Amino acid sequence: MADSKCSHCGQPLRETERRCPSCLYAPVPLEVHLRSGNTGKTVTFKTAMEVGRGGLAGLADPDLTFCESGFQFRLSLSPEAGGWIVYPNPNATNPTWLNDSPLPETGAVVQAGDVLSIKGKRLLLTIDL
Ligand SMILES: [Zn+2]
Repeated sequence: MADSKCSHCGQPLRETERRCPSCLYAPVPLEVHLRSGNTGKTVTFKTAMEVGRGGLAGLADPDLTFCESGFQFRLSLSPEAGGWIVYPNPNATNPTWLNDSPLPETGAVVQAGDVLSIKGKRLLLTIDL
């Protein structure tokens, strides 16, 4: 991801900066929460990362058996898009879906209320920001 500028004051921002050091504007929601439809438990992510069974263990969701032990999807931040982007692991045994369709390899910006899942049937994770 290229360096960007604060959309609020124009200060150059490094990719790793979550808030503009000048005006404290946060171009991307600071956290993303994933809530299990099976257990109601939530896990929270604050940085870009690859998410697999280990990162979701706190959900205690029995459907985690369908999730890759390496990573199922990747969370990324896009100040340009003003949000979190989720990319699937194209090599996952079971494909990641966003709402009612497969998550494109080019990723998608997610909104609060969107649902990540495995094939739309397993490991339903509602996104909150
Ligand atoms: Zn700023």
